[in-house]
Amino acid sequence: MTKAVLITGGSRGIGRATARLLGARGWSVGVNYARNLAAAQDTAAEVERAGGRALTIAGDVASEADVLAMFDALQQKFGRLDALVNNAGIVAPSSQLADMDLARLKRMFDVNVLGAYLCAREAARRMSTDRGGAGGVIVNVSSAASRLGSPNEYVDYAGSKGAVDTMTLGLARELGPRGVRVNAVRPGLIDTEIHASGGKPERAAQLGGTTPLGRPGTAGEVAETIVWLLSDAASYVTGALLDVSGGR
Ligand code: NAP
Repeated sequence: MTKAVLITGGSRGIGRATARLLGARGWSVGVNYARNLAAAQDTAAEVERAGGRALTIAGDVASEADVLAMFDALQQKFGRLDALVNNAGIVAPSSQLADMDLARLKRMFDVNVLGAYLCAREAARRMSTDRGGAGGVIVNVSSAASRLGSPNEYVDYAGSKGAVDTMTLGLARELGPRGVRVNAVRPGLIDTEIHASGGKPERAAQLGGTTPLGRPGTAGEVAETIVWLLSDAASYVTGALLDVSGGR
């Protein structure tokens, strides 16, 4: 039986590129999305063209009820759960902390921190061998921002990814003896639509040249790293925070 993965925020960007690669490796992929059904359907079609199976799953990772329903839908459709790519995340327009309102801060931490924790918790409940699971893998999608701090842009976002890093370190130790590997990737400047949602569509192109590798990264390059971490080729890797940032 092929393995099944839930990718949060699988409809676009890094999530979509990961879904496509996993489809080509024969995985069954749950493509979670927040609002953009058309993009999720496009991703699902790409997964199926690549040779995998796909299910689009609506849900806000910041909602506990949605998260439970997302995992239930995946397990009902594919009959198993082998991996979580904890990828859904948001930014907000560049700003100093002094100018950020409460609503922005709450939403940033609700989606990027609470959402990541809720999804990791559900994966832990369902995959841990001491809870009746068969073991598995979690890959958290953090950011190089967690060590750069993102001054004058998004210190809120950077802090939310710091929480994801720390959760990765703790959960790897908690779940290692229970059959689940937990790692994080920390992308740098990657060419996706997330920058437009922060009001700077050209951000990756403009700043990519300042990295040691002299260009922005692609979603596919991050996806290759995620897929490796999910694979048995990474069977002795857990608790790693893996930069995919062109040396930035
Ligand atoms: P993106 O192109 O903006 O895509 C975001 C994805 O997340 C979409 O599928 C979106 O769904 C989904 N999403 C947003 N809010 C959600 C919510 N509350 N619940 C469920 N899904 C939600 O972003 P990306 O660049 O691929 O980023 C993916 C991850 O990589 C994020 O965690 C981001 O912080 C991280 N990252 C990105 C970069 C970069 O330069 N691109 C760098 C470092 C880290 P809809 O399609 O329905 O809107």
